[in-house]
Amino acid sequence: MSKVFVYGPVPSRRLGRSLGVDLVPYKVCSYDCIYCQLGRTKEKTIERKPYIPAAEILDQLRQKLQEGVSADFITVAGSGEPTLNSEIGPLVHDIKKHTKIPVAVLTNGSLLGDRQVREAIMEADVVLPSLDAYDQPGFEAVNRPHPEISFDTMVQGLMAFRKAYPGEIWLEVFVLDSINAAETDAVQFKHWIEKVNPQKIHVNTAVRPSAEAFARQVAPEEMAKFCKVLGKRAEVIAPFKTSQGHERRAHVEEDLLNLLARRPCTLDDMSSGLRVHRNEILKYIEPLIKAHRIGIVKKGSEVYYRPKDL
Ligand code: SF4
Repeated sequence: MSKVFVYGPVPSRRLGRSLGVDLVPYKVCSYDCIYCQLGRTKEKTIERKPYIPAAEILDQLRQKLQEGVSADFITVAGSGEPTLNSEIGPLVHDIKKHTKIPVAVLTNGSLLGDRQVREAIMEADVVLPSLDAYDQPGFEAVNRPHPEISFDTMVQGLMAFRKAYPGEIWLEVFVLDSINAAETDAVQFKHWIEKVNPQKIHVNTAVRPSAEAFARQVAPEEMAKFCKVLGKRAEVIAPFKTSQGHERRAHVEEDLLNLLARRPCTLDDMSSGLRVHRNEILKYIEPLIKAHRIGIVKKGSEVYYRPKDL
């Protein structure tokens, strides 16, 4: 199978049905977050280069759009940190020329201290950066950043981006049980969030399998308390609503494997993201399990599927 850089649509709790665009190979990232659903970082770097040429990505995206795929957002994200790809600016520009579907950039925000990175994503309709800590020790504990990125560089970058960017910023705060989710933590987060001044604050937790077993999910009532401290713009990300309609798809197995390579999914996630009935999905899932191409991971009461070789 040739390399696939465009996948989904993926059911996203933040963006609805999101057509994902991968800008870097699997786990090339400036962080190694303890909660990462893709596992541990393989290449921790801050080197910007055309890891995947923008022209190749755009060709695949054009083809998907010609097939008539529908989505709420085209999301520049994928299997690592997308701003590491030095061609992200021209890519966002070209996507905007080809479609009216809004473009979202999902970034860890670590490189926003670099003016070139800020300028490169200026044309996006919405930018979704992360803020998972409020000081250097917390930053190191949760995000395990590249040694050349400090908490101060990261947070100053977020503030500089806010000043320059006319679009919406939806900030994600990822909280973990016994690590950064207490109300006293929320007070400290609030100090920095007010400086970044995002339109929305999405409070998330480890509902999917994480890189480290000690990165544990926060209970709903604790999430609600944390959110309350952050104020009216903050919300706990609601579970994705299952879509009613189903589409006929030509490449279900290929689409499923591409989706699972980017994130562990439940049966409902796959059904709603790809708009294929659960029973139809099961027809593909069972042989893939028997062939040891995908496996099952349990998290709480949910069953997630993911590729065997991750
Ligand atoms: S969660 Fe995102 S920023 Fe963190 S290690 Fe995974 S891909 Fe990188």
